[in-house]
Order: sequence, then structure tokens, then C-alpha cells
Amino acid sequence: MATLRVAAVPELAPMKVAQISKPGGDFELVEREIPKPGAGQVRIKVQACGICHSDSFTKEGQWPGIEYPRVPGHEVAGIVDEAGAGVSAWKKGQRVGVGWHGGQDNTCVYCRRGDFGNCRNLKVPGISYDGGYQQYMVTPVEALVAIPETLSDAEAAPLLCAGITTFNALRHSGAGPGDLVAVQGVGGLGHLGIQFANKFGYKVAAIGRGPENATLAKKLGASVYIDSKATNAAEELQKLGGAQVVLATAPSSKGMSELIDGLAPHGKLMVIGADFQPIQVTPIQLISGVRTIQGWASGTPTDSEDTLRFAELSGVRPMIETYPLERVGEAYARMMSGNAQFRVVLTM
Ligand SMILES: [Zn+2]
Ligand SMILES: [Zn+2]
Repeated sequence: MATLRVAAVPELAPMKVAQISKPGGDFELVEREIPKPGAGQVRIKVQACGICHSDSFTKEGQWPGIEYPRVPGHEVAGIVDEAGAGVSAWKKGQRVGVGWHGGQDNTCVYCRRGDFGNCRNLKVPGISYDGGYQQYMVTPVEALVAIPETLSDAEAAPLLCAGITTFNALRHSGAGPGDLVAVQGVGGLGHLGIQFANKFGYKVAAIGRGPENATLAKKLGASVYIDSKATNAAEELQKLGGAQVVLATAPSSKGMSELIDGLAPHGKLMVIGADFQPIQVTPIQLISGVRTIQGWASGTPTDSEDTLRFAELSGVRPMIETYPLERVGEAYARMMSGNAQFRVVLTM
């Protein structure tokens, strides 16, 4: 990091930043100069940034090519503070967010097909460049998401990763109104998945380990709660006719594997919980019932805008715990503990 401090001019007053300076390192609160946006970029005055489990890629150095020190954070909500050269569509003072999709190259074969989400050189805030655990961040304009008036910054932030991922996976799952959709895991992703699935008109079965979240899952819109510790969840799903879709949100490959037999004919296991272990399935399980296993990764900034608009229309909101940026270490530990109800959000 820079050690030389330029003579203080008001515009370049230092800002507070929470950085990781080496893989496995602790969070360090440091001061940096406020960055200037380049051509095609904006500077965002960050108001809130969600803490996502994927931030551990940066914290622990589990993503190839990260340059340290790095500021994590890809659930960013704030306002445009300054627009760089050539930026006309976004104005100073406008409310914006940034999610996992932090920019594309516009030149690779997938971008040329319009499939920006699969850009070969996709940039991710907090991994490819400094993310939202700081008071100001600079981002390319193609990463920006407009935030509707009725959503607060702290509510909007988790919708830009946890929200868009569950919303987008469900709307591309092939399930129709009235279908049985199971949401595995009542956590950061799952509590949003249950709400979206309910508002999409599915019959929702929430699957959790233990009875603790049964009442909450029903409050969020599940009509059935299945305790996968006490019962065989796949059998319970079959008693209900089989699930058209199982949205697998808890990062447990074992838990996902156990649910494949709960799928109806033509059913789909939609995988969004990130685990490094293999999912176990036999060809026979897939062949009988013509079942599918599919992964889903987030989406583009316009998908995020769809998510926010749907949240605004339907009343879907994340349940959050907020911490000031200064308590980032504690906030991150709270997220990692799995005990947060349900998304942890830093406020600046
Ligand atoms: Zn995330
Ligand atoms: Zn590309």
C-alpha cells in the first residue's frame, strides 16, 4: 500500500478502509486517500455493504490471482459521488449498488453473444478490485445497479448477491405457479429463497436441520417445514408428490445429495450454495424421472434491478444485522458463525 501521503487537499481527505493484507490475515482498519474515478468509472460513497460468505475467498486467499492488500465486499449500496470522463447515464447523487458482477470486458466471445454474466474476464468487486468495505469505492459503470426509492441501503445491499442469486435461480428453474418447490437451508440465501418462491406462487417446502427455524420458515412463506435431521427429507418430499425444484442454498454437498430422490419427474436440483465437496448421485437417480442438476451464479446488474423491483413490489426483504465498519472483524465472524439472522451488513 502507498506509504507516501500527498499534502492534504480537502477533496483528498482520507477515508476509512477495511482491508486484508495477506491470505488468511485479519481485517485491518486503515486510512487511504479517496480514489478518483477514471474514464468509464464512477466513485460511490458507500452507505452499506453486505458481508457474504464468498468474501472468505478474499479473506482466506481462496480465489486465484487476488492482489493484496484487498478490500472485500460485493453487496454495495450507496450514491454516485463523482462520475469519471465519458459517463453520462449516471448522475452525482443517484442511488446505486454493485453486486458480484463488477464489470465485463465487452470483447470476449460470451460478451459478444450478450452473455455478460459469463464474461471470460468477469470482474468481481472485492476480488478483482477493491469492494465495499470502505467509505468510497470506484467501479466501472457497467457494474452499476439503480436502487429504488423505497428500499433502504442496508436492505438493498444483501439483495445484490443473496437476493439476486435466489431470485434469478428460481425464475430460471422452470417451476410454474402451484408447483412444489423445496428450499434447502433457512439461512442467508434460504430465507430470501423462501420469500421469493412464495411470491412466485409456488408451494414452498422449507428444509432445515433441526426444528429451530420451523416457525420462521412458515412466517416467510413456506407451507411445509421439513426437519432433515429428524426425518428423511427426500421421502417427505415424495409424500407431497415430489419437488419440481429443490433450491439448494446451504453449502453442504451431502445435504444436497440426500435431496435428489425427493425430486418429481423432470425435477431439478438448482445448486447455489457453494461447497468444494462433490455432490453424490448415481446415473440411475438421474435417469429415473429424467432429473437434472444445475448450478446458478448470481446474474448481471439488470438482473439485480429486476430483483430490487420485484422486492419493492412484493415486499420481499432480507433480515439483517447491521454493524458499523469499525466492527468489521466481529461482523465477519458473526457471518461465519452461521448464527446471524440472516445477513450481516456493514454501515459506513
Ligand atoms: Zn456474495
Ligand atoms: Zn467478456
